[in-house]
Amino acid sequence: MKLSIGMTFILNVSVILAQPQSPFEQFFENKTMRVDYYHTGTATQEHISLDQVHEEGVWAGSHQNLIDTLNLGKYLLKVFDVETNQMIYSRGFASIYGEWETTGEAKDEVFRTFHESVLLPFPKKKAQVVIAKRDKWMHFYDIFTTVIDPNSRFVNREKRGRDFDELTLLENGPPHKKVDFLLLGDGYTKDELDKFRTDVERWKETILEMSPFKEHASELNILAIEVISEDSGIDEPRKNLWRNTALGCSYNSFDSPRYVLTYENRTIRDIAAAVPYDFIYILVNSARYGGGGIYGLYATGMTGVENPEFNWHLKYMITHEFGHSLAGLGDEYYSSSVSYLDFYPEGVEPTAPNVTALLDPEHLKWKTFVEENTPLPTPWPKAHYDSLEAVRATWDRSKPGYYEKWAKLRKQQVEKMQASEYYGKVGAFEGAGYSATGLYRPSMDCRMFSLSMVPYCPVCAAAIARVIEFYSE
Ligand SMILES: [Zn+2]
Repeated sequence: MKLSIGMTFILNVSVILAQPQSPFEQFFENKTMRVDYYHTGTATQEHISLDQVHEEGVWAGSHQNLIDTLNLGKYLLKVFDVETNQMIYSRGFASIYGEWETTGEAKDEVFRTFHESVLLPFPKKKAQVVIAKRDKWMHFYDIFTTVIDPNSRFVNREKRGRDFDELTLLENGPPHKKVDFLLLGDGYTKDELDKFRTDVERWKETILEMSPFKEHASELNILAIEVISEDSGIDEPRKNLWRNTALGCSYNSFDSPRYVLTYENRTIRDIAAAVPYDFIYILVNSARYGGGGIYGLYATGMTGVENPEFNWHLKYMITHEFGHSLAGLGDEYYSSSVSYLDFYPEGVEPTAPNVTALLDPEHLKWKTFVEENTPLPTPWPKAHYDSLEAVRATWDRSKPGYYEKWAKLRKQQVEKMQASEYYGKVGAFEGAGYSATGLYRPSMDCRMFSLSMVPYCPVCAAAIARVIEFYSE
């Protein structure tokens, strides 16, 4: 009898041991690997060279969704287990380099270098890390590959973050089960941290009152790091104003007046590594209009306005720019100047979920949102809209009174649009992605189209919801 009890016990143990490990447990430790590299080139040449590999804190991404099914971004990180040659992780992303290579500077064959990072769950065994890029026809080809031994002395394990205080604004669960938003401040001095705390509260409120974030509130974590800068405000090169700030943000990125970026990737990553994060938003301590957003990298936005009547610009900026960095949404507008040339190559379907070249109307990518009998392309009062935009183009945006004049003009545009048949419907409306012709947007108006408080169109909202769900499963 004793023997049979013992055998039952052994059998039970073997049943427990035989329980299959999840792919995450099989291939990864619950930590983050950060691979830093330099991205160098011109419009026609491109090189990636390895900088350093770092071990960081717990993995913030999903333990379930290891392979990217979102198909967003110009670049794709692929990670293979060397022993079995299985793809164990992938993630699409965009980069400053990827935008810069479409500017005139790059086309003039000027070489530049940008520091970039990719994050992946920390592999248990040797892993092959590959970076692929889309060609003109949107097919991926590999541009960089290296093998990393996670147990080697070539992985830097030091704690690199600065000793800044952290703020928990919203906590709904462990980082791998939630999408983790991280707010950083730039251009806030030690004496301005109270303002930072007010600004991050407004950020949180803005996000939580907006669909589809509102409906997904329980899937979000929001954290902030109280980054302290030496100087107040950020660089404004066109005004010859220079400030020593912790994250190096600047207006006039790519020489575009209101585009705010920072090229100091290593500093941002070192500071951010103090907490688990999926998406970064940098609040810029400035009242001058400006911001930016790059898919999977970060978004930026000003935190003040010159005229209190336009306080809503702050909410617009947060949600518009975060749409870019969180969900790879494209700009739907086409009548404000940008520094890109051929941002979307002609005759090719863009990867942005909300911009289409409408090459095949039968298989429009947001077809499920289109009501039957809606013509594609969809008519809208474009000539009227464009005639008023032509007036706006003659005004100087840096002069006082500009936004007041724009508000009046916008009112006329909205009235005309609202009176037209397909207002509020999803279709394919010509004019999107910095191009007045050949590119189409899903809705006549959207948070990604106009400087206004209109909500995200249904296609943009669905794209954001998809990302939140992907990260919080
Ligand atoms: Zn939209």
